[in-house]
Amino acid sequence: MQESQKIWFNGELVDWHDAKVHVLSHGLHYGTSVFEGIRAYATDRGPAVFHLDDHIARLERSAQMYYMDLPFDHATLRDAVVATIRVNGLESCYIRPIAFRGYGTMGLYPLDAPVDVAIACWEWGAYLGEEGLKNGIRAKVASWRRIGNNTIPATAKAGGQYLNSILAKIESEKTGYQEAILLNEQGYVADGSGENIFVVKNGTITTPPVAASILEGITRNTIITLATDAGIPVREHNIGRSEIYFADEVFVTGTAAEVCPINEIDDHPLGPPGPVTRQLQERFFAITAGKDPRSADWLYYADGKGTGAA
Ligand code: PMP
Repeated sequence: MQESQKIWFNGELVDWHDAKVHVLSHGLHYGTSVFEGIRAYATDRGPAVFHLDDHIARLERSAQMYYMDLPFDHATLRDAVVATIRVNGLESCYIRPIAFRGYGTMGLYPLDAPVDVAIACWEWGAYLGEEGLKNGIRAKVASWRRIGNNTIPATAKAGGQYLNSILAKIESEKTGYQEAILLNEQGYVADGSGENIFVVKNGTITTPPVAASILEGITRNTIITLATDAGIPVREHNIGRSEIYFADEVFVTGTAAEVCPINEIDDHPLGPPGPVTRQLQERFFAITAGKDPRSADWLYYADGKGTGAA
């Protein structure tokens, strides 16, 4: 990874290599952490964070799910993200806030363990590669099912649940694909290992509903809004496995992956990225570059003046 200089840790900016935890930290043993993935993009006004408030709100909801009281409020966390970007002098970056059960108690009852909070940011290019963004990636339906809503709530972004994504991701890489698509316990399409999925057929976009054991992605909500802006019908509806093989277009969305076309699933070719994927991808990158009317509402500028709308 591309190191930067400082990490915000429990209210202070410390040197990158000094942001350390005890080996008996609760979160390390049981996955009792909640986290976010956020991106800041380069704009004419300097770095701007995409949907910052929505990400912090989701972190707060994830924490609540695990009865974790965050020791910092929303505004403090938002200011801390901005301060971390600025102190590291980054024009664009990936931002990783994490709150975790720290050192002090062992055993499965976590509520007596302290809650530590850190925010790191560093330069991180296209998660599925520039080539993937341009020409699409090859995906595989994982043999692992997505965790069920009554096993671990998929809508909370918690550390432990990512063991599920990690098994699927390893399987897809080892078998020569770039990403895994997970089906849920009912056999319907759920998520990519770190992305939401969209299917285009006969001019209509379908994406799995939140109840299908997906993470309610912030990029997903963005794309639903952009498709609606463009007059493209969007349905949140269960998707069967064979529907993704015979779609006109399939793409995935996520903070790390952005808007990435899929050109092949389980060796069924889907062809080069189609017009709907291209149109939404172009608008997404215009917004994140600060060059679209929506940019004003959805970007939080790190110059201290907040949103463009203010
Ligand atoms: N699904 C899963 C399983 C994820 O890990 C992510 C990444 N956070 C997403 C979907 C996409 O969410 P977002 O657009 O908020 O990054």
